[in-house]
Amino acid sequence: MEKYSGKSVMKGIAIGRVHLYKKLEYQVTEERAADPAAERERFLAAVERAKEQLTKLYDDAMTNVGEDHAAIFDVHKMLLEDEDYLDTAAGEIENGYNAVYAADYAGTQFSEMFAAMDDEYMRGRAADFKDISRRVIRILLDMPEEEIHSEEPVVLVAEDLTPSETVKLDKKKILGFVTVKGSASSHTAILARSMNLPALVNVDIPLADELHGKPCVVDGFEGEFLVEPEEEILSEKVVRKNQWIADLEALEKLKGQDNVTKSGKRIDIFANIGNVEDAEAACAADAGGIGLFRSEFLYLGRDTFPSEEEQYVSYRAVLEKMNGKKVVIRTLDIGADKKVDYFGLEPEENPALGYRAIRICLDREEIFITQLRALYRASAHGKLAIMFPMIISVEEVERIKQIVELVKTELAEEGKPVGEPELGIMIETPAAALISDELAKEVDFFSIGTNDLTQYTLAVDRQNQKLEGICDIHHEALLRLIEMTVKNAHKEGIWVGICGELGADTELTEWFLKIGVDELSVAASAVLRVRGAVRALP
Ligand code: PEP
Ligand code: MG
Repeated sequence: MEKYSGKSVMKGIAIGRVHLYKKLEYQVTEERAADPAAERERFLAAVERAKEQLTKLYDDAMTNVGEDHAAIFDVHKMLLEDEDYLDTAAGEIENGYNAVYAADYAGTQFSEMFAAMDDEYMRGRAADFKDISRRVIRILLDMPEEEIHSEEPVVLVAEDLTPSETVKLDKKKILGFVTVKGSASSHTAILARSMNLPALVNVDIPLADELHGKPCVVDGFEGEFLVEPEEEILSEKVVRKNQWIADLEALEKLKGQDNVTKSGKRIDIFANIGNVEDAEAACAADAGGIGLFRSEFLYLGRDTFPSEEEQYVSYRAVLEKMNGKKVVIRTLDIGADKKVDYFGLEPEENPALGYRAIRICLDREEIFITQLRALYRASAHGKLAIMFPMIISVEEVERIKQIVELVKTELAEEGKPVGEPELGIMIETPAAALISDELAKEVDFFSIGTNDLTQYTLAVDRQNQKLEGICDIHHEALLRLIEMTVKNAHKEGIWVGICGELGADTELTEWFLKIGVDELSVAASAVLRVRGAVRALP
């Protein structure tokens, strides 16, 4: 038996045979072209042909797997129109290289640039640039399109899987995924989650031909990939797998059910998301809405501020996907551990206690106003609620509301339609919890950010692994602050949710209901589990 470990991007157990997926190989060498002008034409013709293929792939995917998976082909078409990408390739052709080398060079450059970005989502896009270049190169070399063949359900093992490969997979034949590369937001991971199949990325396994057809186990709970497992271990994994399937079946039955206890007490269960794609998982998990969209992810992993238009498109996409369900979008929470070079933030002694979140927004209003304009414009397309992070005073909320009024007036003068989003704040500092009676008079809702509330209440840095032992997430001080916040919210007739990790802690579900929490916002994969916990209560 050989055992490898990797990063689990989807829990579960797959037992089957390895299907080693290898791309059709080609060699790219630094070949020179005799006639650069003709070579440039050849390159551009291949790009055009690639775009035609992508249009067809888009249409096929729309029919077979739906818009969510088809959209990537549109993105690829756009990338093939990217002037920087085309100029980079054209530059190499002008330098005398042939079109294959130029396409490979541009693909590698852009892929490396994206792979070096901080934002996990952006890193995941590195594969897209490789994918478009491979497509152009295959056309230039007159190679057939890549396909995945397999007769029986298999565990797909690959170096990496590009979006166009994943979408072509015959879903009924896949038991799980193992890739040497990839990230949590790579398409392999996204697909695995949407298919609810176990998947590991970053598995350091040599992709030797002998691997193909060998029996194997993917354990997404332990992050293990076992090749030719021993009898005894295989039996253990079979037991674990059956348990997993039974758990999933039980959870599936909870879809469409209410989050209600046996005695009729109910609570909303929403999902936390970091990007537009996550909203898909939230819908699939039957979340009642989005309780926290961490909008700062739109700002990470890039070199410039996202424009109002870019933000508007993303917010609107989430609202439309949620189809009338409530979506709480938090304004940007940059700073502390979320660093962005183009903000030009100074290094700080204590960044968690520093210049972050609403403090930046109220200091650099132009950034805040751009985001608020995008949010208000998006609010015309669904049930939006806007939430402000890291609040410590009533004055901050008053200032926020003044700026909001300015934005609304501006948009009205421009004739832009807006909705009537609720305005709420995060309660994630002890200060906010302690004055929640005052704050409740100012806003439409509270959402308790227990991640930060814990670190500030216990003076325990949430990033410091050494402190895990003393970080009591059920500390009486924290529970008192939560209870106080809920009481103060209700006294003013506003709703209150929990969007920190503690919301998914089923040891506390009964207590949350008892003190009257109105909403729990948890990871999409935890929605049904928490629903189950609620329904099991007396
Ligand atoms: C929190 O602090 O609990 C929270 C939800 O926000 P974040 O984890 O993004 O700081
Ligand atoms: Mg927080």
